[in-house]
Amino acid sequence: MTDIPAVYAGSFDPVTNGHMDVARRARDVFGSVVVLLIGNGCKRPLFDEAERLALLQEAFKGERGIRVEHAQGLLTDYLKANNLRVLVRGLRGAPDLEHELLNAHYNKLFYSQAETVFLPARAEYGFLSSSAVREAVRYGADVSPLVPACVARALKAKLSD
Ligand code: ADP
Repeated sequence: MTDIPAVYAGSFDPVTNGHMDVARRARDVFGSVVVLLIGNGCKRPLFDEAERLALLQEAFKGERGIRVEHAQGLLTDYLKANNLRVLVRGLRGAPDLEHELLNAHYNKLFYSQAETVFLPARAEYGFLSSSAVREAVRYGADVSPLVPACVARALKAKLSD
């Protein structure tokens, strides 16, 4: 275990059990993790930023070594401002790798001290994405095995709106 906190950033619309697993495994390697909701870049979200932040906070409540934060703008600006440099990303498959390598290169370009570490998705979450959850919920599927309990409740409430 290192004593360098890692940053696990995403749009988390909504947070899934796959995200929870990556954050916990990163915490077990790095000692502590900042789960960072990045507010920009999410077009037509199901949950607005305040809702996503509240869900993340509830999902990770009481978790040792995991802190939820919120930022706007460039991820590398957040790293610089907070004296952080390790980014953790989850990889579900080749499409993630392609996309995440590009992100890693840009982050390094904008902040030479930034280092990106990839964690492979656990096999049972390799198919799981926030977009698949949103889609399934729209058609009335029960997604409770795929998301934290607070998210399952929030999705039900959203549907009945
Ligand atoms: P999504 O890709 O589900 O919309 P985000 O944009 O919030 O989620 O992604 C944040 C990070 O989480 C990315 O590194 C993404 O590859 C990773 N991730 C998303 N879902 C999973 C999963 N099921 N298992 C492992 N990593 C994941």
